[in-house]
Amino acid sequence: MIVYDLICGAGHRFEAWFASLEDFERQAGTPLLACPVCGNDDVKRLPSGIHTARSGRTEPAAPAPAPTSDTGPAIPDPRQVLAALRKLIDGTENVGDRFPEEARRIHYGEVPERSIRGHASPDEAEALRDEGIEVLSLPLPPVDDVH
Ligand SMILES: [Zn+2]
Repeated sequence: MIVYDLICGAGHRFEAWFASLEDFERQAGTPLLACPVCGNDDVKRLPSGIHTARSGRTEPAAPAPAPTSDTGPAIPDPRQVLAALRKLIDGTENVGDRFPEEARRIHYGEVPERSIRGHASPDEAEALRDEGIEVLSLPLPPVDDVH
């Protein structure tokens, strides 16, 4: 399929899809191909590109080129890091200082499994890991946890 920019005898511009150029030529000048605005079937194909130059219609923006780094791993944008952390803690229950206790209760099935966050000292976190409990240490406290 190809899309053509068309213009009717009254100056209306529109687009139409055709299977091929032959398909367009077969329909052009017949009621099969009429202006959707006024019904005029004196339809011509605009030379390609003219619509972008004159109509002011905005073409779909090309995707911005992804930031590339040829010099090794990109340095993360702090805002992105913070956003990622927020996403991570989103939906987790803040259990504060009861974190090690809650983590154990969840791990041992004493309470329904859920995602929690809270505070644990490095020693406590280490102890949890030793028990096979997955603990993710965040490099900085989420803002809403600061009291
Ligand atoms: Zn028209």
